[in-house]
Amino acid sequence: MTLQKRLVVERTKDFGEIYEVFNLDDASTQSDRCIQCGDPFCLNKCPLHNYIPQWLKSIAEKDLEFAFKLSNEPSPFPEVMGRICPHDRLCEGDCTLNDGHGAITIGSIETHITEEGFKAGLTPDFPGITSDKK
Ligand code: SF4
Repeated sequence: MTLQKRLVVERTKDFGEIYEVFNLDDASTQSDRCIQCGDPFCLNKCPLHNYIPQWLKSIAEKDLEFAFKLSNEPSPFPEVMGRICPHDRLCEGDCTLNDGHGAITIGSIETHITEEGFKAGLTPDFPGITSDKK
């Protein structure tokens, strides 16, 4: 399963996405491929140690709210990281399934989680922030 790339003639007319964002069924199907490694290379390679296997499991079970909460825990801007992080060299590059089976498309699922979460009215928690610095 690959994401659909929008046509150039469409993309030159707006500032929309290059790739279509996964819908819930596709994100869930893709997440369900994760074998929940005991020692997950994806998480270990992530500079933020994002809870990747955990939010993949949540999306496989179509629990968007919990996935949104998990993806916002270690990452301040998952909606940005899902798009610009070099996943092919980090989490996806080290995914166990990248050895001939095709890595889980982690970045696309991260983007799906935040976009669908925002649409559903979810907002990140910022517990423990007491500074008045900006
Ligand atoms: S390395 Fe790949 S298969 Fe293993 S937990 Fe991470 S995403 Fe899932």
